[in-house]
Amino acid sequence: MSQDDEARRIARAQLPAGLRPETLAVRTALASSQHGENSEALFLTSAYVQPDAETSARRFADMEDFTYSRTSNPTVRTLEARLAAMEGAEAAVATATGMSAILMIIMGLLKAGDHVICSRSVFGSTISLFAKEFGKFGVETTFVAQTDVQAWREAVKPSTKLLFAETPTNPLTDVCDIAALAEVARGAGAVLVVDNTFCTSVLQRPLSLGADLSLYSGTKFLDGQGRVMAGAVCGSKRLIQDVFGPVVRSAGMTLSPFNAWVLIKGLETLNLRMAAQSANALAVARWLEAQPDVARVYYPGLASHPQHELAMRQQSGVGGAVVSFDLRGDAPEAAKAAAFHVINSTQVLSVATNLGDTKSIITHPATTSHGRLTPAQRQAAGIGEGLIRLAVGLEHVDDITDDLQRGLSTLRSQ
Ligand SMILES: *Cc1c(COP(=O)(O)O)cnc(C)c1O
Repeated sequence: MSQDDEARRIARAQLPAGLRPETLAVRTALASSQHGENSEALFLTSAYVQPDAETSARRFADMEDFTYSRTSNPTVRTLEARLAAMEGAEAAVATATGMSAILMIIMGLLKAGDHVICSRSVFGSTISLFAKEFGKFGVETTFVAQTDVQAWREAVKPSTKLLFAETPTNPLTDVCDIAALAEVARGAGAVLVVDNTFCTSVLQRPLSLGADLSLYSGTKFLDGQGRVMAGAVCGSKRLIQDVFGPVVRSAGMTLSPFNAWVLIKGLETLNLRMAAQSANALAVARWLEAQPDVARVYYPGLASHPQHELAMRQQSGVGGAVVSFDLRGDAPEAAKAAAFHVINSTQVLSVATNLGDTKSIITHPATTSHGRLTPAQRQAAGIGEGLIRLAVGLEHVDDITDDLQRGLSTLRSQ
C-alpha cells in the first residue's frame, strides 16, 4: 500500500453514501490526524501555524482552512459535520449556548423594523430575549398560541421575517404542526425556526417538514449527561455559511472545542438515550395517570394528550423524555405546598432545573423556570402552582415511580 493510500485509509474521512443516522452519529468526522486516532481528537488551540505568509493570506481570505478558533476549530467542525449529517441538513453551526444560537439567528437575519411571530409557550429565556432584548433594537415580536395555526396566519404582516416555534413545549408539552407553520412562513416569505431541543433529530426532523432552521440547546440531550453548555443550528449551506458564519466570526458566540468534544461523544449514544429515556417517560406518565392525587398528566405519548396523533406522526411515534403533571389542590397555596412536599420527599431524583440528563430531574416550574413571570402571565401560560416537571433519565423506571410515590402517598397526612 502506498503511503498516500495508507493515509487515506487511516483518516476514514470519506464515508460511503447512504449510511443511516445511527452510523453517521458515530462515524461522521473530519479526517483523523497522521496518528490515526480512533476517537476524535480534542484540538485545544487558539491559533494555527501557517506554512508561509502567502498561505496565511489566502486562508484568511477564503476561510476554508483553520486560522483562529473564534472562526473555526477542527473539533467544533467535526461536531457541526456530525450534527448536520444526523439531521439530514446541508450544514450546521455550533454556538456557545442554545440562547446564543437564537441571538446569532436574529443578528444574521433581522434588522430594526422587522417583525417576528413567536409561540407564546416557548422556553422562558427565549420569550425574554424576543420581548425585551430584541425589542430594544426595534425588532417587534407578536406572541401567539402554540397550537392555533390560524392565529399564526393572522399575525403575519408585510414586515414579518421570522416565525419561531418549539415543539413539544416546556413544561406543558404542547405540540405544534411544523408542516402547517412552514406553509404560513412560505406564504409570508419568512424563515421558520423550530427549537428541536426536546425531540432531537432522532425523533423529529423539522427541515424535512418544511422548516428552514432546526435549533438546539446542546446543553440538554445532545450532551446528554449534564456536563457542558452548547447550542447549534442546522439548515441550508446558504444560511449557515453565508449568513450565520460571518455573525459568529465577528460577534464570537463560538463554542469551546472542549464542549464540542464532549458533545461529539454524547451524539454517539443519542439514539440509545432518546429511546430508553422516552420509554421510561411513557411508563412514568402512565403510572402518574393512575395516581388519585394527580389531576392531569402532560405527555405527548399518552392518548389523553390533545395533540397525541399529530405528535406521534411528527415525532416518530415517540413522546420524548419530559413529563409534567398537576397535583390536585384548589387554592394555589395548597397546590404549591403539595408540589413542594412531593419534590422534597424524593431521595433519588435531582431537584434541579435542567433536562436531557441521564439523571432524572424534578422541577417546580412556577418558582424556577417560570418564576420571573407575573402570576397573570403564569396563569395564561397554564403554569399552575401544583405543576411538577420531570425530565426522565436512565434510572430503572420502578425506582423513579417509587421515588414519586414517597411524596404522593403521604400527601393526605400533610
Ligand atoms: C435550555 C433550552 C434553551 C436554552 O439553551 P441554553 O443552552 O440553556 O442556552 C432553549 N430552548 C429550549 C427548549 C431549552 O430547553
